[in-house]
Amino acid sequence: MQYERLSDFAGKGSYLLFDFPLYTKIKINTMPETTEETEILDYNEEGIPSIVHHMNFIENRDVRYLKMLVTQEKNFYYYCPFCERKLQIIENGFKLKKELTESNITTYSYMFMSEEFEEYDKHAAKDSVKRFEELIKHIFDDKRTLKMDFECTSKDKHKFYVIFQLTDDNYLMKTGQYPSILDFDNTLKEYQKVLKEKEITRELTKAQILKTHSMGVGAFLYLRRIFEKIIFEKYEQAKLENNIDEQLFREAVTKDKVKILHEKGYLPIYLVEINPFIYDILSKGVHQLCERECNLHYDTLRQAILLILEEKMEMDQKGKLRKNTKNELNKIHTKLSQ
Ligand SMILES: [Zn+2]
Repeated sequence: MQYERLSDFAGKGSYLLFDFPLYTKIKINTMPETTEETEILDYNEEGIPSIVHHMNFIENRDVRYLKMLVTQEKNFYYYCPFCERKLQIIENGFKLKKELTESNITTYSYMFMSEEFEEYDKHAAKDSVKRFEELIKHIFDDKRTLKMDFECTSKDKHKFYVIFQLTDDNYLMKTGQYPSILDFDNTLKEYQKVLKEKEITRELTKAQILKTHSMGVGAFLYLRRIFEKIIFEKYEQAKLENNIDEQLFREAVTKDKVKILHEKGYLPIYLVEINPFIYDILSKGVHQLCERECNLHYDTLRQAILLILEEKMEMDQKGKLRKNTKNELNKIHTKLSQ
């Protein structure tokens, strides 16, 4: 999912509020949009209808989404970092002046399009700028900042808040939140229970901290390191088990290293499945992409790494269990053969 303009967050409001990185600019387009309806007025003697078209100029979907985000009374199911569980989170919503709630700017009705349309078009463009200015004056303070307060519905009523800044060129930017993005991230907590490798947990946390501060390139670097560590660890295991051509492996590029290890059965299937592109994307992030692009794609890549780690863990556990069981069977066999 790409998050470039505010309406991209439609249906994902809680992600924007609590998990989206700070200081990442989100465009609010203020240009009006149009929708068209047709109406049949009557039919002439030959049964041909006279049709009138209504072209509605409405506020841009980014502006409509902003209004909804700020004004709607909220009650949604989400993770509370204090309760350490999911429950209903509430927010009262900002009461908007009645004249600002309307999204329709003007309607141009016509049977045959004429130059009148341009008048309407110009008027709508001008009016939407004016209306947007009025709206932000109403919902943001004089420094163009906005604070939203939330509360969890446990008996302790834990308080959260989020602060937004609107830049002069109409980008929305989250500049603060409490609790932090890291506190809201319970996936890592879940994985920590099973992630034995402390170093990987540390690197995942570091990646997450960098993402929180919109330093996507650095965050990518940590994800790539984890990816490389998994490959290296499996190579070491294969070496120990005398099951790999070391020279061939060392000389291969990463993609082929994955293939070699896969053929020997050392890698999680998911890693092999996404092998054609994951390392390329991570490397591109480190060498070519800008911070903004890395920030936009970070969550998907992190999810991929977590899925690999999860599968690897299961593989390791199963491997250990197999080995132990085999040893036990061996002992039993020896004993019974005596
Ligand atoms: Zn709570």
